[in-house]
This record gives sequence, structure tokens and C-alpha cells, in this order.
Amino acid sequence: MNNLAMFKMSYGLYVLSAHTEGKDNGCIINTAMQITDTPKQIIIAVNKQNLTHDMIMQTKMFNLSMLDQRTPFSTFENFGFQSGRTADKFKDIAMKRSENGIAYLTDTTNAYISAKVIATLDVGTHTLFIAEVTEAEVLSDLESVTYTYYQSHIKPAPKKETKKGWRCKICGYVYEGEDLPEDYICPICKHGASDFERIE
Ligand code: FE
Repeated sequence: MNNLAMFKMSYGLYVLSAHTEGKDNGCIINTAMQITDTPKQIIIAVNKQNLTHDMIMQTKMFNLSMLDQRTPFSTFENFGFQSGRTADKFKDIAMKRSENGIAYLTDTTNAYISAKVIATLDVGTHTLFIAEVTEAEVLSDLESVTYTYYQSHIKPAPKKETKKGWRCKICGYVYEGEDLPEDYICPICKHGASDFERIE
């Protein structure tokens, strides 16, 4: 099996946000798609380690902010490479609230949707949430960030590495060691061993 084939699938990139009493939180996801038009239903996959996952499990509601090409790398660091358990991710983020009370990003987002969960499916590391769209607005005409665009235009080029080991292709974290365990999970972005490349 060639794992690189998986990179040929195209994805968008989104900030998935949720709200519980006194707490706003969000994370980056690339797994979101519309599945029916009447009624408008979407599906998202969320890693169970994310606090946002637990908040959606509890409230059954979320927002998706569709990131556009203005999005700086710092937005991915803020929402993707730290946990809402220890950080207030919305502290320095321009946002508004939709009718469901959940935050959405306003400055680097071309649209947002609000959705209400109608079914969940446990798929191991992730939960699939099937949800009905309750609100949707367009915020700009700029193009959305695809995963390919992120890799080629947003993610900084890797620094000349002085360490030896394995580098996460998603966030740049370096695992120092000769052999990368097969079940290794990146401590920063939670991607698995197949997303690491050897640095010589
Ligand atoms: Fe990583």
C-alpha cells in the first residue's frame, strides 16, 4: 500500500467551534462534507482527543468556519497545535456569534455554517457527526483554503534541521530517534506515524 495515495484526496480546512457554559473552543478539521441538500445535512469527523469533540458530544451543536486564503499559519498553530484544555483559543481571534451562541471566525473566513447533530458514529480514533444545517452565511468571495493550498502556500518551509529523526509533515514537529514507533501520534497535531518523514 502506498500511503501517498491518500494525499491525492482533496480536502478543505475548517475551524470547527463549539460552546459550553463560559467556554469557547475550536479545532482545525479537514473532514467535512455536505451529504444531502433537502434537508441540508453535513458530516464531520473529529478526533476524540480534542476538547471540541467532547463539547459537541455534550451540546450536539457546532459551527464550521470555512477558512479562506487570507488565513495565516498562526491560525493553524492557534487552533490546531495546542489544546483548548490549557489555552483560550479565541482570546486574540476576531469572531462573532451565530444564533446558536457559538463563535465563528470573521476575518479569514469566506462562510460559516451552524449545525445541529442528529446522529453520531464511533469510528475508533474519531467520531462521525451527522448534522443538519441550521444557519449559513457567506462572508467573502475569496477562495477557500484546501489542504493542498495549505501545504504549498501557508505552512512554512522546513528549517535546515540540525536534529536527526523524523519530522511531522503536517506541523513540523521533530521526533528525535532512529526508529519511529508504528503507533506514534504527533504530540502537537495528533497525526499518525504515516505523516512523518525521515530527516537525514
Ligand atoms: Fe504534527
